Amino acid sequence: MANITPYLSRVEGRDRLRITHSRPVVFWMTGLSGSGKSTIASAFEARCIAEGHAAFMLDGDTVRTGLCAGLGFSPEDRSENLRRIAETAKIVASAGQIVVVCAISPDQASRDRAREIISPAADFYEVYVSTPVEECARRDPKGLYKKAYAGEIPSFTGVSAPYEVPQKPDIVLDTVNASVEECAGLLFGYAMDSAYRPDFLLSEMAKAAARASAAILEIYNGQYEVSFKEDASPLTTADTASNKVITEHFRSVFPEYDILTEEEDDSDRDAHGIPKRLNGCGTFIIDPLDGTKEFINRNGEFCVSIGFADHHRVMAGVIAVPARGLLYYAYEGRGAYKTVITEDVAEKGIARLFAEEEQIHVSDRTEGLRITASRSHGDKQTEALLERNKDRIGDILTAGSCLKGCLIAEGEADIHYRWGAFMKEWDTAGMEILCREAGASFTDINGNPLAANRADPVNRNGFRILNRPEAALDVCDIK
Ligand code: ADP
Repeated sequence: MANITPYLSRVEGRDRLRITHSRPVVFWMTGLSGSGKSTIASAFEARCIAEGHAAFMLDGDTVRTGLCAGLGFSPEDRSENLRRIAETAKIVASAGQIVVVCAISPDQASRDRAREIISPAADFYEVYVSTPVEECARRDPKGLYKKAYAGEIPSFTGVSAPYEVPQKPDIVLDTVNASVEECAGLLFGYAMDSAYRPDFLLSEMAKAAARASAAILEIYNGQYEVSFKEDASPLTTADTASNKVITEHFRSVFPEYDILTEEEDDSDRDAHGIPKRLNGCGTFIIDPLDGTKEFINRNGEFCVSIGFADHHRVMAGVIAVPARGLLYYAYEGRGAYKTVITEDVAEKGIARLFAEEEQIHVSDRTEGLRITASRSHGDKQTEALLERNKDRIGDILTAGSCLKGCLIAEGEADIHYRWGAFMKEWDTAGMEILCREAGASFTDINGNPLAANRADPVNRNGFRILNRPEAALDVCDIK
């Protein structure tokens, strides 16, 4: 390779990611002809695009019409064909796409080489589409098995040429027992795990919350000053200390993500005057000390609330309750959990993130409901609600801050209603995902979903949490 000097791009991977939203990942689908590679890959690609993720399908047959035209089916040509596909997949993935390759790739050596080529640049999954040859021949979507059995196609994989079953595939798709949509959904789950790394993300969020919790308690147990913000809400040194701990942690671990926090202005705009975080690939939504009034009143009902949103949806959340030493957390599709804050959590994150014994669920009560009411904000709508529905309400629990959401998520309370434009996204993001993952519905007061990471972070239409749809109260005329 004399006289060749590869030119390195000055663009960093994370800046590219801000635009494409996707961490580089390649799904390498291997299996017999007719096993279902293209059908599943196409459904998977369509699902990614529909949900706003850049994805690209590289089909073995399609590349043979262009990039690999001229290559035949001798072992050498097949090997060269796969090498070119692997190099192409690497480039496309590096450009910020979720890539799905469909290639029979009959031998383990060429699949291992594909992994070697691709994995420095992208997460690599070897996906074995395990359909037996008899089933592939029965389907025979391209009429090739008929020809192969008639001896018209020499070296046809599975008939007259060998197929080496993957020894350690990362994913196996059983198309006899799972539908196209189910197989594509399974790949989609892996793609999302790769894009957001749920274990890593949640664990780092838990670390930040546990550290913030310690910083808050140190101040809580000593002397602190109270000042007042422009809107007359109180601010203590604990709010600022907690904000510093959390934002410094996220800015160092996740430089690619944006931050929306109660304690910092949100003035970072793009050339069109739109908040930059709207164009990013993920935003932490932070209330470093939710319930400053409870903190000052020393009733222990204050929280650290952190949500993570992408595609205008909260995907992950962590709520720490420092005075009680508790940590609640949830990830979309993975459930809601409760654990205790330890020094280990602050240092290393949560060891067993999705431990079944720590999972929490909403109650199934639909009568004798336990409704939570805000400790700091009494209002006429809530009074009217309680009066009108008094036959259905068993108990009124007062609780400050987003502790309300935690109580509902763990089944201690059942419902909460809040009217008006008082709450901001940072007040609700953490408890929204926690409640949703515990089985509740979390919407605006009219039952409409709340978009996350909006230009205007005020929740203009209040919010409502219901453990069960049947628990909805009569709100007729309450405004
Ligand atoms: P390959 O790309 O592996 O050669 P294709 O996707 O072209 O295979 O063909 C697979 C055939 O099997 C299609 O006709 C598809 O409709 C059919 N099929 C039936 N069930 C499934 C399934 N669960 N997953 C994928 N394909 C399936």
